[in-house]
Amino acid sequence: MKIKDFKKEYCSGCSACYSVCPEKCISMQEDPEGFLYPIVDIDNCIDCNLCENVCHGTASLTERRPVSVYAAKNPDDGVRSASSSGGIFTIIAEQIIKEGGVVFGACFNDRWEVIHDFVESEDKLFAFRGSKYIQSRTGDGYNKVKLFLGQGRMVLYAGTPCQIAGLKLFLRKEYENLVTVDLVCHGVPSPLIWRSYLTEMQSNLYPPPNLILFQITSLFFLHTRNSHADIQNYHC
Ligand SMILES: Cc1cc2nc3c(=O)[nH]c(=O)nc-3n(C[C@H](O)[C@H](O)[C@H](O)COP(=O)(O)OP(=O)(O)OC[C@H]3O[C@@H](n4cnc5c(N)ncnc54)[C@H](O)[C@@H]3O)c2cc1C
Ligand code: SF4
Ligand code: SF4
Repeated sequence: MKIKDFKKEYCSGCSACYSVCPEKCISMQEDPEGFLYPIVDIDNCIDCNLCENVCHGTASLTERRPVSVYAAKNPDDGVRSASSSGGIFTIIAEQIIKEGGVVFGACFNDRWEVIHDFVESEDKLFAFRGSKYIQSRTGDGYNKVKLFLGQGRMVLYAGTPCQIAGLKLFLRKEYENLVTVDLVCHGVPSPLIWRSYLTEMQSNLYPPPNLILFQITSLFFLHTRNSHADIQNYHC
């Protein structure tokens, strides 16, 4: 199946096709529900098929069983309370940075959109802590991962299982210096709904927030005036 003929039900919006296109003729655009899908500029497409080859939605992937299962939690109470589960992500990320590596994860940008970005120091890891229950834009991250791996640096990429599948197919080979962490995930809510919600909240009652925390049963905004509001249930 051609990406230009793709069906939405096979697409997670991982952006691997966008990242691999040598002609830069794929753009990731929101559909009316706000989810990202690839749009191909057919006039500039050279039919190289690279985009199809990296698509986890149509690839025949072999099922992998867990090799081992461990349960663990971060002993640091502060880190654990800022994380959505046991805070293991932070422990792995800190180790990668100690080894001179780079950590990719999901964070908010200055417009409170969720994007994938990277950090190279432990004091910046806080931005990735905690689940953001919105589809994250991977953007040009896969190409940056490839660049860092090529430089021989350790890379940790943490994200949803479809983002990890997209990254691995995009890379097309195993790298010893790549560590991936995917989370238990049953789907991502739409960025469009999130934007509408933010607009509604900010225009009605409150100044712009300086911290937003998603929790298992509720979503908190922490505003600049130190007021906060428990707004609504928003678990995925
Ligand atoms: C979209 C989504 C769906 C989830 N669905 C389930 C579920 O069905 N059942 C369940 O038990 N748990 C679910 N979770 C919770 C998830 O499994 C926990 O966030 C994770 O276990 C936290 O581990 P931690 O405490 O080590 O990491 P934390 O320190 O909480 O770190 C969170 C990690 O999640 C990544 N992340 C955060 N938001 C996103 C995002 N929007 N897209 C991609 N990566 C993101 C960050 O990069 C970081 O690496 C979901 C989380 C997300 C983000
Ligand atoms: S076939 Fe090649 S040129 Fe055309 S959209 Fe796919 S990757 Fe780009
Ligand atoms: S590579 Fe990713 S974004 Fe592109 S069509 Fe496949 S699943 Fe969708």
